[in-house]
Amino acid sequence: MSAIRLDLHNFTRDELRALFGRWGFSPVHAARLWNYLYLALADSFAAMPELPEKVRTRLSQETRIGSLPVAREADSSDGFTRKYLLTLADGEAVETVLMRFTGRVTACVSSQVGCAMGCVFCATGQMGYTRHLSPGEIVAQAVHVARALRLAREPHRLRNVVLMGMGEPLHNYDAVMHAIDILRDEAGLALGAERITLSTVGVVPGILRLAREKRPLNLAVSLHAATQAGRAALVPVATKWPLDELMAACRTYSETTGRRIFYEWTLIEGKNDSAEDARAVGELLRGLPAQVNLIPLNPTHGYAGTPTHSAAAKIFQHILASEFKLPSTVRQRRGLDIAAGCGQLAIAG
Ligand code: SAH
Ligand code: SF4
Repeated sequence: MSAIRLDLHNFTRDELRALFGRWGFSPVHAARLWNYLYLALADSFAAMPELPEKVRTRLSQETRIGSLPVAREADSSDGFTRKYLLTLADGEAVETVLMRFTGRVTACVSSQVGCAMGCVFCATGQMGYTRHLSPGEIVAQAVHVARALRLAREPHRLRNVVLMGMGEPLHNYDAVMHAIDILRDEAGLALGAERITLSTVGVVPGILRLAREKRPLNLAVSLHAATQAGRAALVPVATKWPLDELMAACRTYSETTGRRIFYEWTLIEGKNDSAEDARAVGELLRGLPAQVNLIPLNPTHGYAGTPTHSAAAKIFQHILASEFKLPSTVRQRRGLDIAAGCGQLAIAG
């Protein structure tokens, strides 16, 4: 029965109002339900006393609130990161991470169970692809983090969402965009354009579609190498969407939207972390509105590489800044001790 119930987190506010209209219920009740879901963060119909009995009965018969039970969780030793393995209705599981950076709380959410893109150093890629997530399953991860903050009586509310967990978001375009519409709603979690970041491996048609649709979000593109051959060795789908096509799509995106792109670069010792590599990425991004995010490799079982030392990362960063005026950050390796690389909790057994 529960499998065919409607997941309420799949509905935008307008869609919820339309559903209530079809059922002959007042839009006032639809608005109340929305507030319960996204302001009160309610996880049961019993916690919705302001809804009339007949509305609650129908909801409990035909719908569900897609809460995601925690299968496993782990804190990083510095206490800044908490990682959850959340169970979906069909028994699959995805990772969601609560991260705290200077008082701001960010939820890192998954877009698929596994991933079809096969990047060699990525634990999720090593797992392969199982299925797409629904919009509601993406929204429910953010709600889970917001609820966890409230339960812990933390002073901060959920401020940012990054689609950087398991999966390739542009491979699940429609569900991801639907979820973003729900997350952005000002009468709900109110995560506006600057607060949502989508990271893609470089799905060219998806980037062009984002540009065409002028989607209000921050875009991050996983580059990792500045030559076609170097990139194809790390990111197999670079064969399908070659580097020159990817860079052309990024240029179109920035020109059409006026937005800068974040370029991600997983730093692997001896592979892509030399001074020449830094100069190659500087040349590649010349003239583009860009920021580079350097991510020291999180070691995974399926890949023999090791992370770049922080001294080498600093030199890399210095070359980008001094020779190319290219801003960059080195991602803190928070949570590495809880196997925080994406997909690593899921395969921890
Ligand atoms: N599929 C999307 C988003 C999820 S991965 C993408 O690939 O962009 C988010 C980022 O983490 C990507 O830049 C990815 O390359 C990086 N990443 C994945 N596994 C990693 C690992 N083991 N160490 C460091 N970075 C990793
Ligand atoms: Fe998929 Fe991103 Fe991992 Fe590549 S890095 S396998 S695209 S999740």
